[in-house]
Amino acid sequence: MTRPSRSEASRLTLVCAIATIATGVTVLTGWTLHVDLLTRMFVGNVHMLPITAATFVIAGVSLWMQRVDTDEASRLSFVSRGLAVLVVVIGLVTLAERAWGWSTGLDGLLFPATLARLPYQPAGRMATNSAVSFVLAGAALFLLDGQTRRVRQTAHWFSTLGITIAALALIGYLYGATALYQMDVAASMAVSTACAFFALYVGILSARPGASWAGRLVSRTGTGMLARRLLLALTIVPLALGWLYLHGRDYFSREIGIAILVVVIMAIQLTVLLRAAAIVQRGERAQARALEHAAAARDEAERANRAKNDFLAVMSHELRTPLNAIIGYGALLRDGIPDPATPGQRNQLERIGASAKHLLALIDEVLTLSRLELGRERITPTRVGIASLCEEAAAMMEPEASRKGLALTLHLPEPVYTMTTDAGKLRQALVNLITNAVKFTDRGGVQVRAWGEDMGSVVVFEVEDTGLGISADHLPMIFDAFWQVDQAPTRRVGGTGLGLHVTRRLVRLLGGDVVVRSVLGEGSCFTIRVPRAYWEAPAEGGSMDVMDTGELVASRAG
Ligand code: ADP
Repeated sequence: MTRPSRSEASRLTLVCAIATIATGVTVLTGWTLHVDLLTRMFVGNVHMLPITAATFVIAGVSLWMQRVDTDEASRLSFVSRGLAVLVVVIGLVTLAERAWGWSTGLDGLLFPATLARLPYQPAGRMATNSAVSFVLAGAALFLLDGQTRRVRQTAHWFSTLGITIAALALIGYLYGATALYQMDVAASMAVSTACAFFALYVGILSARPGASWAGRLVSRTGTGMLARRLLLALTIVPLALGWLYLHGRDYFSREIGIAILVVVIMAIQLTVLLRAAAIVQRGERAQARALEHAAAARDEAERANRAKNDFLAVMSHELRTPLNAIIGYGALLRDGIPDPATPGQRNQLERIGASAKHLLALIDEVLTLSRLELGRERITPTRVGIASLCEEAAAMMEPEASRKGLALTLHLPEPVYTMTTDAGKLRQALVNLITNAVKFTDRGGVQVRAWGEDMGSVVVFEVEDTGLGISADHLPMIFDAFWQVDQAPTRRVGGTGLGLHVTRRLVRLLGGDVVVRSVLGEGSCFTIRVPRAYWEAPAEGGSMDVMDTGELVASRAG
C-alpha cells in the first residue's frame, strides 16, 4: 500500500478535533446563556444535551493531543488516554443507567433546572446510540497507538462502527426514518450530535491513516485520488437520489420513482466504473512504458558488461604472453644460461620469478571470471579419480604448507573411485580453497577430505583449516567478487578477493555448490558438493555405478 500523506492526514485530524471541541463548547455556551439555537447548533429540533457536549469536548481534546504520531504526542499520551478512558466511562455509565433504570446523578451534573423543563426522559440523559458511540470513540482513542498492528486495527474498526452509527442517524433525519436516530422512548441522537460524531470519527481515522482503509482515502497517490473521487460519487449521489425519490413521490407513482432511481443509480455506477477503468488503464500504460525503459536500460547495461568482459578477456590473454616470456627468461638467467649469475643476482631473479608467477595467477583468475561472465566457460567432462584430483590440488600447495610448518593431511577414498566431471574446473576450485586455507593459517594444519553422499551420487570435498577463521558478519560476503576481510593478515598475505567468487561459480557450473562454516580465531571449513556424474551414465553402465556408489559412501574418512 502507498503511504498516505502524513501532513494532509494530520491537518484533517486537527480540523476534526477543533470542530468537535468547538461544537461542544458552543453547545455548552448555549446552555449557559439559555440560547436555544446554540444548544441545537442551528439544526433540527432535538438539543445536544450538556453531558453530550461536555463529552465531545473531552474526546476532542484527547484527539487533538494524539493528532500526530510524534514525540510531543507521546509525552501527552498519558493525559490523552486518560481522557479517552473518561469518555468510555461516561458512555458505559449511561448505557448501564439506560439498561437497568439506575440513576448515578451523571445526567443532572450540568444545568439540571433547565433540563427538567425539556421533554427528554430521564431529564439530561444522553440517548443509547450516543452512549454507544462514545464508548466506541473512547476505546478507539485509547487504542490508537496500541503495541500491535491488530490492536491499532481494532481502534479503526471501532471508529468504522461509530461512523456508521452517526451516518445512519444523519440519513434517518434526511429521510425521516425515526428508527435510525431514535432508539429510546424520549431521547434521540440530535442532528448536531451525529455531525459532531462524524467529525470525531473522521479525525480518529485520519490520525493514524496507515493502520486501515482510511489511509487509502487520504493517500496522495493516484489510488488515493481515485478513491476520494469514487467516495463522493458513491455516497453523496445515492443519498441525494434517495432524498429526491422520497420528496418527489407526489409527482410520480412508486413504480416510476423506483425505475428512475434504479436507472440513474446504474448510470452513475457505470460512469464511475468507466472513469475508474480509464484511470487504471492510464496507470497500466505508464507501467508498461516504465517496464520498456527498464528493459532497454537492462539491455544497455548487459551490453556494457559484455564489452567490459570482452576487454578483460582480451587484455588478460595479451598480458599472459609477455609474462610467460619474463618467467621463462628469468628462469634461464637464474639457472646460469647463457652466463652464470652471482648469488645476489640469483636471489633477485628468484623474487622476480615469484612475483611474475603471482601476477600470472591473478591474470588467470580474472580471465576465468570474465569467461564465466561471458558464459564462455565450456564443460568438458572426463572420468577422473577422486583421490588423484585432491592429491594434485594439494601438491600445488604442499611446498608453501611445509614452509609455514603446517601439516597438510589428506583423507581420501581408494584410488578406484572415480567421478565424471570437468576435472580442470573442479581442481581449480579445490586449489583455490586449499590456497586460502594455507594462506590464512599460521598454526596447526589443513585437512582435505573427500567422500560420497546420497547413495554415492554426490561427491563431497572438504577443506578444513585451523587458521584465522571468519567472523559471522563477514561470512555472507566472502563469496562476493573482489571482497576481502579488511584486516592486517589479509593485506599481509595479499590476494584479489576473486578466489572464492570464482570457486563458487565454477562449482555451480558443475551442478554443485560450496558452503562455509567458520569460527573466528578457530578456523574455517569449506565444503563443495558436486554431482558424481556430470551427465547421466548410459543404461548398461548403471549397475556398476551403483556398486561404486555404495562403497564410496562407506569409504568416508577423517
Ligand atoms: P583472496 O584472493 O583475498 O584470498 P578470496 O575470494 O579467496 O580472495 O577470499 C576472500 C576473503 O575471504 C579473503 O580475503 C579472506 O579474508 C577470507 N577467507 C577466505 N578463505 C579463508 C580461510 N580459509 N580462512 C580465513 N579467511 C578466509
